[in-house]
Amino acid sequence: MKRYAGKSILKGIAIGKILFYSKGEQLVQRKSIENVAAELERFEAAKNTAAQQLHMLYEKALKEVGEVNAAIFEVHSMMLEDDDFNDSIKNMIESQKINAEYAVAATGDNFAKMFAEMDDEYFQARSADIKDIAERVVGILHGSQNSGDLGDEPVILAAKDLAPSETVQMDKSKLLGFVTELGSANSHTAILARTMNIPALIGIQVSEELNGKTAIIDGVTGELIVDPDAEVLREYEAKKQEELRQRELLQELKGKEDVTLDGKHIKLFANIGSVGDMAKVLANDADGIGLFRSEFLYLEKNDYPSEEEQFQAYKTAAETMAGKKVIIRTLDIGADKQVDYFHLDKEDNPAMGYRAIRICLDRQEIFRTQLRALLRASAYGNLGVMYPMIISVDEVRQIKKIVEELKKEFDDSGIPYGEFEQGIMIETPAAVMISDLLAKEVDFFSIGTNDLTQYTLAIDRQNAKLDNIYDSHHEAVLRMIQMTVENGHRENCWVGICGELGADTTLTETFLKMGVDELSVSPSCVLPIRKIIRSTKIAD
Ligand code: PEP
Ligand code: MG
Repeated sequence: MKRYAGKSILKGIAIGKILFYSKGEQLVQRKSIENVAAELERFEAAKNTAAQQLHMLYEKALKEVGEVNAAIFEVHSMMLEDDDFNDSIKNMIESQKINAEYAVAATGDNFAKMFAEMDDEYFQARSADIKDIAERVVGILHGSQNSGDLGDEPVILAAKDLAPSETVQMDKSKLLGFVTELGSANSHTAILARTMNIPALIGIQVSEELNGKTAIIDGVTGELIVDPDAEVLREYEAKKQEELRQRELLQELKGKEDVTLDGKHIKLFANIGSVGDMAKVLANDADGIGLFRSEFLYLEKNDYPSEEEQFQAYKTAAETMAGKKVIIRTLDIGADKQVDYFHLDKEDNPAMGYRAIRICLDRQEIFRTQLRALLRASAYGNLGVMYPMIISVDEVRQIKKIVEELKKEFDDSGIPYGEFEQGIMIETPAAVMISDLLAKEVDFFSIGTNDLTQYTLAIDRQNAKLDNIYDSHHEAVLRMIQMTVENGHRENCWVGICGELGADTTLTETFLKMGVDELSVSPSCVLPIRKIIRSTKIAD
C-alpha cells in the first residue's frame, strides 16, 4: 500500500482500478511530398473534420457542464480558423514541400511556445489550447480515432495532465475520478471536474506503473491510496456507502425551508456564472441567486455585450427564478479576469490595480449600459444588484447617483423599469473597517471571502506556491466577518457571504451564530448546507 499526497479539487471518494492515460504523443515524421495541392487538400479536409468535432464537443459540453465551461471549445474553433496559424501551415507545405502532419505539428509547437513566453497569464494558458488543437488535427491526418474510450469497467484515470477537451469527451459513466500531476485548482479541467461532480486530485506524481492497480481517491484529505490493504479498503468502502446514503438523504431536503431550529430564516442562495447554470440552481433547489458573476457575459465575447443582450440575460434569470431573489454583481473585470477589447494596460500589481468598480466609475459608458439593462430587467422579477471591490462611501454615493440619473432618463423617455435592492461586496479590509458607514448607504452586504482573505492576509489568491497559507479560517478573516455582520445589522442592512468560505460546512454553525443572514454557494453545495441550517440552534 502506498499513499500519495495531492490537492483535492472536489470532496468525495472514488474506489477502483487506475487507468494510466497517456496522450501517446503522436510521433510525427517529416516527409517530403510531390503534390503540394493534394497535401493542402488533405490539410483542409482534416481541419474541417476537427471543426466538426469541436462543434460536437461544444454541444455535448453545453448540455453537460453549461455555457461558461463549454466556451473553451468555441475558443478552440476560433483558434483553428486563425489566419496566422493557417498561413504558417500552408506556407510550410508549399515552400518546404513537406507533409501536412509535420507542418501542423511544427506550427502548433511554434505557436504554443510563443504563447507560453508571453507575459500575460491569459495568453500563457492559451499555449495548452493551441497544442490541443494541433494534436487533434495531426490525429485526424493520422487517421486515429479521437475517442474518450475508457474500456468496459469504470476507472480512476491517472494522467500527467488533462486538457478540457479530453475531460469532456470521456464517458462519465466510466469515470470514477481522476488524478493528475499538473494543472492548478483554477484550471478549466478542475472547474469541469467540480461541475461534473467527479472526485479529483491534482499534484499527484503519476506513472505508467500505476496502470491497473486498485486505488482510492480521498477527496477530503487529498490522498491517493494505491494498493490499499484489506482493512483500508473496507474502511473506504464503508465511507463511500455512507457518502451515497448521505447524498440520497439530501434529496429529501428539496422543498424544505431554510430555517434554524430556533426559527431564523436563512437565505440559501446559489452562485452562477451565466444563465446556462440556472438548471443546476433549480435542480438543487436554491432559494435564489446570491451571486451572478456578470463578467462572464463580457468574457465570452469579442466585443462589449450590448444593453439589449444584457437585458435578455438578466431578464431570463429574473423570470426563471419566478419572484425569488436574483443578485447580479456588476462587472468585475481586471486582475485575473482579462478581456482583450477592454485594452487594459499591463500592471505590476493587477489584483490591487485597475479593476471592478474602479473601471466602471472611470469608464462610465460601460457601467451605464449595464445598469440600464439591469433596471429594465428588474421589471420582470426580484432583482438585486451589487457592486464589487468597494473601498469608500464616496464610491457608493457616485454609483447611487448614476442609478438615479438613469431612472430619470427612463422616466423622461417613458421606458419601463423596475426597482432593485442595492448592495455591495465586502471584500476589502477597508470596506470592513468602514462597514458602519457603508451600511447606511445600502440594503445589503455580501462578503466576498475569496478576495477578503487575499487582501487581509496579503496573499495573492492566484499563487499556487502560497496555497498552504492562504487560510480563509484565519482569525483575522473571521473577525472581519463578525464585524461586518454587527455593523450591517445596526443599520438594518442584511449580510451574506458569497465567497467560497460560505460553502464550508465546518463553519456554517459559526456563521449562523454570528448572525449571517444569507449564504450563497455553488449549486451542488446548497442541500448539504440546508441540512446544517435545519439542525442548528443559534441561541445558546
Ligand atoms: C470573492 O472575492 O469572494 C467573490 C465572491 O468574488 P470573486 O471570487 O468573483 O472575486
Ligand atoms: Mg471578489
